[in-house]
Amino acid sequence: MKPSLIKLLKYLRLEADRGYDDRAIVGGLKKMLEPWQEEARSEGVSDAFIEVVVSRLDDYAPLSPKSRREALQGIIVRMRKELSAGETIENLPEVDQTSTSARAASEKIPTKTEQVPLATPEVAPEPSRVLSKPTEPEEEERAAIPTTKAAEPVEGVKDESPPPPAEEKSLEALEAPLTTIQGIGPKSAKTLAKLGLETLGDLLWYLPRRYDDYSRLETINRLWYGQEVTVIGAVESIDLRVVRSGKMKITEAIVSDGTGSLRITWFNQPWIAKQLKPGKPVVLSGKVDQYLGRLTMNNPDWEPIERQQLHTNRIVPVYPLTSGVTNKWLRKVIHSVASRYAPRLPDPLPNSIRTSAELMPLKTAVQQIHFPDDLDHLHDAQHRLAFDEMFLLQLGVLRQKKEWEKLETEPILVDDPFIEHFVTSLPYKLTPAQTRALEAIRDDLSSKTPMNRLLQGDVGSGKTVIAAAAMGITASAGSQSTIIAPTSILAEQHYQTLLTLLTDNAGVEKDAIRLLIGATPEAEKSEIRTGLEDGSISVVIGTHALLEDPVTFQKLGLVIIDEQHRFGVEQRATLRAKGDNPNLLVMTATPIPRSLALTLYGDLDLTVLDELPPGRQPIETRVLRPQERTRAYSFITSQLEQGGQAFCIFPLVEGSEKVQTKAAVDEYEKLQKEVFNSFQVGLLHGRMRPDEKEQVMGEFREGELNVLVSTSVVEVGVDIPNATVMLVEGANHFGLAQLHQFRGRVGRGERKSYCLLIPDFDDGTDDERLAAMESTNDGFKLAELDLDQRGPGDFLGTRQSGFAELRAARLTDVKLIEKARREATRLFQEDPELQKPEHALIAQEMDRFWTEEKGEMS
Ligand code: ADP
Ligand code: MG
Repeated sequence: MKPSLIKLLKYLRLEADRGYDDRAIVGGLKKMLEPWQEEARSEGVSDAFIEVVVSRLDDYAPLSPKSRREALQGIIVRMRKELSAGETIENLPEVDQTSTSARAASEKIPTKTEQVPLATPEVAPEPSRVLSKPTEPEEEERAAIPTTKAAEPVEGVKDESPPPPAEEKSLEALEAPLTTIQGIGPKSAKTLAKLGLETLGDLLWYLPRRYDDYSRLETINRLWYGQEVTVIGAVESIDLRVVRSGKMKITEAIVSDGTGSLRITWFNQPWIAKQLKPGKPVVLSGKVDQYLGRLTMNNPDWEPIERQQLHTNRIVPVYPLTSGVTNKWLRKVIHSVASRYAPRLPDPLPNSIRTSAELMPLKTAVQQIHFPDDLDHLHDAQHRLAFDEMFLLQLGVLRQKKEWEKLETEPILVDDPFIEHFVTSLPYKLTPAQTRALEAIRDDLSSKTPMNRLLQGDVGSGKTVIAAAAMGITASAGSQSTIIAPTSILAEQHYQTLLTLLTDNAGVEKDAIRLLIGATPEAEKSEIRTGLEDGSISVVIGTHALLEDPVTFQKLGLVIIDEQHRFGVEQRATLRAKGDNPNLLVMTATPIPRSLALTLYGDLDLTVLDELPPGRQPIETRVLRPQERTRAYSFITSQLEQGGQAFCIFPLVEGSEKVQTKAAVDEYEKLQKEVFNSFQVGLLHGRMRPDEKEQVMGEFREGELNVLVSTSVVEVGVDIPNATVMLVEGANHFGLAQLHQFRGRVGRGERKSYCLLIPDFDDGTDDERLAAMESTNDGFKLAELDLDQRGPGDFLGTRQSGFAELRAARLTDVKLIEKARREATRLFQEDPELQKPEHALIAQEMDRFWTEEKGEMS
């Protein structure tokens, strides 16, 4: 370390030890500036850093002890950049807040330049905290925040369980409404409620959407166009201009710092001209722009230099906003809550977990997530918060799994000849993957523990036949089974398939297989209810209508859910409740990346159909420009002439179903009259009556219709082996998982099939996502990509997973998921009921996490 830095550090520490009284040097810290600057410069310390020291120490004297600490700590943070590899410096200790004089001083910081009064909680400190203060570990721990990553495992080594009472108390304080903050009245509280912010705790957990890294301080002569930087200087001149139209108010300032001057422009913020006077030192952060060949800054964030900097000269948090809330204001409010309460947050994770998972203490993480010292701290803070969420998620999943393993059910047994007969009567040979799946399911059924299995397989991998076999086995053992599908079109299709497979291959009576959907006439429904109750019906196929129907089963042995991602956890539970711990098989054609499967379905056993039936040719996918549509039509015509069939999807994902329907109807008429006039075109949309839908699907299946114009209702499950072209209009509106589902409607037979994607804007051909569709047919690869780009929404439907929304964790972070799972498994083995006192806070967090925002139907 350079001697000048060592000297500076020595003075800063001395000053800290004295409680920031500005007496470390006779006459005040400012006195050291001149000699020190010279020394530092001669040793090659960067100008930028010298600037920081000068600016902070120049205005040091009038500050309160708390602000002084922050000013000096700012120097420490910035100083780390001046060090060589391996050198570290510790943070400065906090001001002793129990000293009322210090607090009083800190609350007298001048606030006149602020648009909103500084938000300082009015809540009095809990007496318990004051009492426990001197021995509280938090201060030391904070001081021990490692300055390099290598030092990380050191933290959190101290044992602090059981948590000190002061911490537990502070949790309650976080329940207080926002109006307890000075400067937040009922009106602001109402505005903040729009962001879901109602209590102090909500604010603490309101995570930044992103950050602006303004920690890079530059002198004006060293600015580059395009840089995001912080500049410190003095205002030379400032003027407000009203542009001719009167609509635009431009504040223009010249700021200089001794190395040069910079023109600053603010649009429509006329008040700045009143707040910034010539001669006043100011900190500006933003992007360097240029105008007429000269460097400028437009609309930079700024603040006066004498205060601790929240909006400039650091990594600045940027929060999601609503009208009536500015980032500057929210930042201030959150800062006041975070600096007061974050240090008192109890840490639910015991030290053993924190150490082995290398996690930052929670209180540090919460502070750092809002106001990070540097990128490393930010990263560690994000990691800690994400870990907690994932950990709770995994714990819940493990608990669920264990609950289910405790249940008992009547085993469903079947002999080998039955299976052999079923398999050999199929028109094709099962793939090895299908055979393995069937074996696993047969095993599950024969056990006393109810089956809990996820059958995952790409579109067209042949899941239906496996479901059929399971239902056949169940029927042969004298138990009932049910399968539900997300759409009536799909339920109807399953009904047809099962009718064939179960009567021919499993000896089930035709009348014992029934379909119950919304459109089933009431008389028939009641007949089905009777049959299920007396056991004369052994298989029922349905939709949501079946879930809602008050049917009771005589002996429900097996529940199957097709296209699981379209249902919520509650639906699973409803179906289960209709039997006595029935076996459960959930199937999904949406490929779920392994990391996601582990997380969301960690409570289920997993079987993957990882191969397609033989003879399938890869589907060829092309992205076309809208003006190439005619080419697409002539290609389709040639396919139709060769005996193939085609789907044309008109989605209009935005807009009401009514609008969608109209688009499909219009297109249908146009295509039938103008494009495919020598062929039969059919129309399918969500607003048709179910019997009309069935009729159209039937005609398409039978080949009476050559082209099916449809809204997205055919997205899942539909199986028409003779269809060879899937045309998707407005393709840019869909997620990859969805497009892959559409594509999966073709290529189900042995004929070569095609998928044509037409985005509804011209440069859509450049769309990376659509290009990915062209380059791979692998649903898993696409799913990973989709998950990266769009988040898990497409897999979850609308939040239907039964746990609180993830705020910090990303479901694509496989490493994090695995780490959390490892720790959760260990904790679960040690204390499954979370009864040990050191796990009490985890138990409490679990309740919150797993009851907040329960899943809902999509
Ligand atoms: P998904 O897994 O998408 O639900 P399906 O069960 O609808 O797929 O099967 C797709 C098509 O493949 C169906 O037409 C089905 O009859 C056929 N199929 C299933 N298994 C095989 C197999 N082993 N060999 C050949 N065709 C098969
Ligand atoms: Mg299917």
